[in-house]
Amino acid sequence: MVSPWKKIILITGGGRGIGAACALVAASQGYTVYISYRTDAAAAAEVIAAIETADGTALAIQADVSDEVAVESLFVQIDKRFGRLDALINNAGILSPQMRVEQMDAARINRVLATNVTGSFLCAREAVRRMSTKHGGLGGSIVKISSRAAVLGSPGEYVDYAASKAALDALTIGLSKEVATEKIRVNGVRPGLIHTTIHASGGESGRVSRLQSSVPMARGGEPMEVAKAALWLISDEASYTTGSFIDVSGGR
Ligand code: NDP
Repeated sequence: MVSPWKKIILITGGGRGIGAACALVAASQGYTVYISYRTDAAAAAEVIAAIETADGTALAIQADVSDEVAVESLFVQIDKRFGRLDALINNAGILSPQMRVEQMDAARINRVLATNVTGSFLCAREAVRRMSTKHGGLGGSIVKISSRAAVLGSPGEYVDYAASKAALDALTIGLSKEVATEKIRVNGVRPGLIHTTIHASGGESGRVSRLQSSVPMARGGEPMEVAKAALWLISDEASYTTGSFIDVSGGR
């Protein structure tokens, strides 16, 4: 049952890892939660079930953020069901197997950019069209899940991924200024080494353990630690914060 007074949040890639943690925290704070996923319907269903067990409201939909038609359809479905959108966490992101720049081909680079950069642009565009007072919206809040890689560069692992996250940071800064007088705040979270399965997709499931001695706090982070920062930026508690970043990285 959708309550008309609850705020509506969309979390892309909300079926697993940091996105799933964001969904659980958002639901615990009273949001009606909409999550998107790319292929793992079972994981998304588990997140929905956990939220519903705790008397929250959540829905999941398959939508590849790198596919413009799929993104448009995702937002139209939210329109039809809820009639508005209050918050967006642009979380969906990928990386590819570790390698040096001289080994990368265009297909690999474009695949990472399509999801991490184009996908974030498309979702931000659809959110602004609905939230901006310029378009008759009530305002809203957008958070982009970037990475400390944007600053550190990920040498020898995935400089393409790091570059995609630096592009995301530029999007956050530029968009925040574009919509600052239209009641939309846009901020970023830069996680460090977080315990999720994304590292396995880079070919090293034990990456956090290998690198944690390089973290001043000497440990990897948990998805919930990232989610709480993201939800603070989304919330009215951060009402004068836009174009900003929180590094959730144990000091790394
Ligand atoms: P996971 O691999 O655990 O989860 C990624 C999620 O994104 C999944 O739900 C996946 O869907 C979804 N997804 C991936 N590609 C697409 C796509 N094209 N369209 C829609 N959904 C997609 O990753 P994490 O939770 O670790 O990462 C989440 C975000 O945090 C990413 O942007 C990542 O770059 C960033 N980050 C993570 C860090 C870490 O150490 N874990 C550090 C810094 C940043 P499905 O389940 O269907 O596959």
